[in-house]
Amino acid sequence: MSEKKDVIVIGAGMAGLLIAYYLQEAGKKVLVLEANKIGSGQTDRTTAKITSQHSLKYSTLIKKVGREHARIYARANETAIDEYERLIHSLGVDCDFERVPSYLYSVANRKQMQEEAKEAASLGIDAYFTEWTEIPFQVAGAVCFRKQARFSPPQLIEALAAKLEIKEESRVLKIRGKRVYTREQVYRADKIVMATHYPFVNVPGFYFLRQHQERSYVLALKGAEPLQGMYYGVDKNGLSFRQAGEYLLLGGAGHRTGKKGCGGAYEKLRSAAEQFFPGAREETCWSAQDCMPHDGIPFIGKFSVFTPHLYVATGFQKWGMSTAMIAALILREELQGRPHPWSRVFSPQRLLVRAGLGRFLIDVGESIRGLTLGWFGKRSRRCPHLGCKLEWNPNERSWDCPCHGSRFAADGRLYDNPAQSSADMTEK
Ligand SMILES: Cc1cc2nc3c(=O)[nH]c(=O)nc-3n(C[C@H](O)[C@H](O)[C@H](O)COP(=O)(O)OP(=O)(O)OC[C@H]3O[C@@H](n4cnc5c(N)ncnc54)[C@H](O)[C@@H]3O)c2cc1C
Repeated sequence: MSEKKDVIVIGAGMAGLLIAYYLQEAGKKVLVLEANKIGSGQTDRTTAKITSQHSLKYSTLIKKVGREHARIYARANETAIDEYERLIHSLGVDCDFERVPSYLYSVANRKQMQEEAKEAASLGIDAYFTEWTEIPFQVAGAVCFRKQARFSPPQLIEALAAKLEIKEESRVLKIRGKRVYTREQVYRADKIVMATHYPFVNVPGFYFLRQHQERSYVLALKGAEPLQGMYYGVDKNGLSFRQAGEYLLLGGAGHRTGKKGCGGAYEKLRSAAEQFFPGAREETCWSAQDCMPHDGIPFIGKFSVFTPHLYVATGFQKWGMSTAMIAALILREELQGRPHPWSRVFSPQRLLVRAGLGRFLIDVGESIRGLTLGWFGKRSRRCPHLGCKLEWNPNERSWDCPCHGSRFAADGRLYDNPAQSSADMTEK
């Protein structure tokens, strides 16, 4: 058995690395266990905007969870941007960190944009409504958040990893009390943090009932007129834009992971690229996915009331850069026995049933459908996580689970969690 640590962090994505680094800075002895390679999860495919602008967040949060919670959500995300800037400077990392404005836009709903601008500003964000954007089509209205940021994660990841003790190729198979088991070793720590993107422990916690995963797609275009700001379309089929050096990243075509008939995602983006950036050339393309909690707020804090040593950071809603920093700041305090003022918003033990009920019912319906088809339907490939029927994703040529979002290669190799093992690809 190995030396006992103060904290074991499971997962070396942006969340795990920041959490581990901030705890180590606070004087804790920390070990990070990573199933694959450092930064090889969803963080490897992020578009890396650091922003508090999370779609129509503030008008929605105010209605669903109240102004005070919305204010804390805004403050936490704005603080996260500042904290990245401070950290990157203090580590001396050259990672193209740059303050830029971020715009939400709608081609159809001006009123919605006006309301979002007003509510965001009322919560202390430097936000305003505008009709002006740089994107090559007319918008009905846009919301600008000033002084947001973008950066390039690999350099920061490398700098953080160099300061931490990390074991790669060390998939955690189970956690029992203060013990963490991989195939080769048993590790011990006073506290354990699960930063595995999607928690792999089903019970207790029940995160598989509290969030689903959504996948979206990105093209990197060369030769397009560069954009100064970052853009996110809120309409159905809205597009996002973000300059990364000489490339313009064009994102969109999102869908629930495992959605039947989700094909044509890259084609949709290609046709938008042709229409709006006719001179540009596609250099590469990729996709990624993230966890979408029912009430629109990530889960950061104690994993469950039954597991006093275990903590979690998940449910990042495609905004995991700022949220990973929020997780690091909250957990640094909580793991030292100090409450954090943001915890009442992000705590996984929150009871905001009304806010998430509609989404919860949709997800339960999807899970029942997938489980029924998996267990009782004719001839299907089943997910090793809970047995749901897998669906073919022609965009990525993968088998994806519509219930909880695990993904597998055509030969059954595991791509994305919560499943932790390969799938048997024989139809049963
Ligand atoms: C298309 C797209 C674009 C995005 N762009 C942005 C953006 O511009 N700005 C933004 O803020 N967010 C963005 N996001 C979201 C952001 O990329 C993610 O929220 C973030 O990268 C998640 O980081 P993570 O550390 O939680 O997860 P990951 O990076 O997936 O890290 C989790 C790690 O845990 C490891 N792991 C899993 N199981 C185990 C186990 N049993 N034992 C040990 N290790 C394990 C995995 O191998 C992995 O390395 C985007 C998402 C998508 C889909």
